Amino acid sequence: MLLARLALGVAGAWVAYAWGAHLLTPACIWRGPGTRRRIALTFDDGPDRDFTPRVLELLAQQHARASFFLVGERAARAPETVRRIAGEGHEVASHAWSHRSLWFRGPQATEREVARAHEVLAELAGREPRHFRPPWGMVNVALFGALRRHGERLVFWSIQPEGLRPVAAERQVRHVLDRAQPGAIVNLHDAEGTPAAPERLLAALPAMLDGLTGAGYELTTVAELLD
Ligand SMILES: [Zn+2]
Repeated sequence: MLLARLALGVAGAWVAYAWGAHLLTPACIWRGPGTRRRIALTFDDGPDRDFTPRVLELLAQQHARASFFLVGERAARAPETVRRIAGEGHEVASHAWSHRSLWFRGPQATEREVARAHEVLAELAGREPRHFRPPWGMVNVALFGALRRHGERLVFWSIQPEGLRPVAAERQVRHVLDRAQPGAIVNLHDAEGTPAAPERLLAALPAMLDGLTGAGYELTTVAELLD
């Protein structure tokens, strides 16, 4: 009986810590102001030595800038790619250190996830990351304090053409173009994610960029979108 109560108590505390924190996410950033015809493309889960440079080339061809939410430990293994992202005028933002779900991380581990990524990204990019996207979109109560301490804001997205299931490149393009509106934040993946997500991204990106710029959108970083 005592054991059952104890288990219930632990489960209840975890529900409040992990699930309860999601009550706070509507107050986080999901889009920018709709006052200017701007959209921020955001690329999660990189850097990837093969795919990220190809994304950078496509962006450069369209004079587009974007935000890259990098996984700290991947960034540490591909420093030249991080420097190139920053050097080409894109925003380097944080996608935590290890990409493990924060749902199952206690306050100290959460702080380490934020702090280690912040440190390595600041060093490689030459400026401190200001924005954070939680791996898998999952948060916990401790995350909010950790982000405040490191000067990062929590950023989700308003358009997500591919989530946990693969979506064909042409459908992703249509999804984004149909929903595009001033201030939108688009969630894309230039590494890992769903199997073969980066390949589908590379197939979708030229038409996506053409469609958005053709519709008169300026493609910019989250930092600029929010300024
Ligand atoms: Zn991710």
